[in-house]
Amino acid sequence: MDRYAVVGNPIAHSQSPRIHGLFAEQTGQHLRYDQLLAPLDGFEASVRDFIAQGGRGLNVTVPFKQQAWALAQRRSAHAEQAGAVNTLVVEAGGALYGDNTDGIGLVRDLQRQGAVLAGRRVLLLGAGGAARGVMPSLLAEGPACLVVANRTAARAAELAARFPADIPVTGLGYPGLAGQSFEIVINATSAGLTGELPPLPEGLLAEEASCYDMVYAATPTAFVRWARQREAALASDGLGMLVEQAAESFRLWRGVSPDTAPVIALLRAEMQG
Ligand code: NAP
Repeated sequence: MDRYAVVGNPIAHSQSPRIHGLFAEQTGQHLRYDQLLAPLDGFEASVRDFIAQGGRGLNVTVPFKQQAWALAQRRSAHAEQAGAVNTLVVEAGGALYGDNTDGIGLVRDLQRQGAVLAGRRVLLLGAGGAARGVMPSLLAEGPACLVVANRTAARAAELAARFPADIPVTGLGYPGLAGQSFEIVINATSAGLTGELPPLPEGLLAEEASCYDMVYAATPTAFVRWARQREAALASDGLGMLVEQAAESFRLWRGVSPDTAPVIALLRAEMQG
């Protein structure tokens, strides 16, 4: 049976085995998908061991996405731009192909829920690995502009400078958002994990704005509550993105695209108990 795994540290919380198990069942693909805890100084050795045992592909999560980028001999254009890889495909002869499906996952989940990115003013909150990973896909949709705001303003400026594009891309600190408004606001900070919210000014949302939190939870996250209170047309957490990025990894490995909607619905129901 073909073997796959998600590698990270920590990894016990990962939903990926459950999601890929549901995809395999749905599409009739015979595969095994495990969790792989790699030592913080042992990512490459863990990957090599896994391949030696017949592994065909890996999802890569925190803190190894940049190391996975370095390990891949070939990379997709989006992974190349992002400087981070979340999906490794073991090619014939054992060579590694790296892609980053986080951005496609985010864009598909936004579109599934009716949000349009083309021509819109897009604000990305956060300048960590998640923000960096989704920027190529956001830019590929042709927004009017992409603004990156971060607590550490210098990181936002650095990230914006990594993406030379025809579209204006700027990086700033939260105070720089005063007086600006956006049709799409994406929270790529980890603030929500501790129930916090970046300091966002009033008037940030344009009419009919779509808000998306990459963090997901059984109950509405602080950012989802913030968006609902301001009557955003869409206030979504990141469960759909998690499933959509997994679906794209599954397609890269197996050549089959699973139906994501029933998997998202099932996980949501399970999460809410
Ligand atoms: P990271 O590299 O550690 O970056 C964290 C970011 O959050 C930084 O920009 C940091 O700002 C900011 N931040 C942290 N605490 C904050 C606070 N209290 N107020 C304001 N900003 C704060 O993490 P990451 O890998 O980018 O991940 C970010 C989040 O995205 C995580 O919660 C992760 O679970 C989620 N994610 C979800 C999916 C999905 O499929 N749904 C996929 C990828 C990631 P500074 O730079 O100033 O420290």
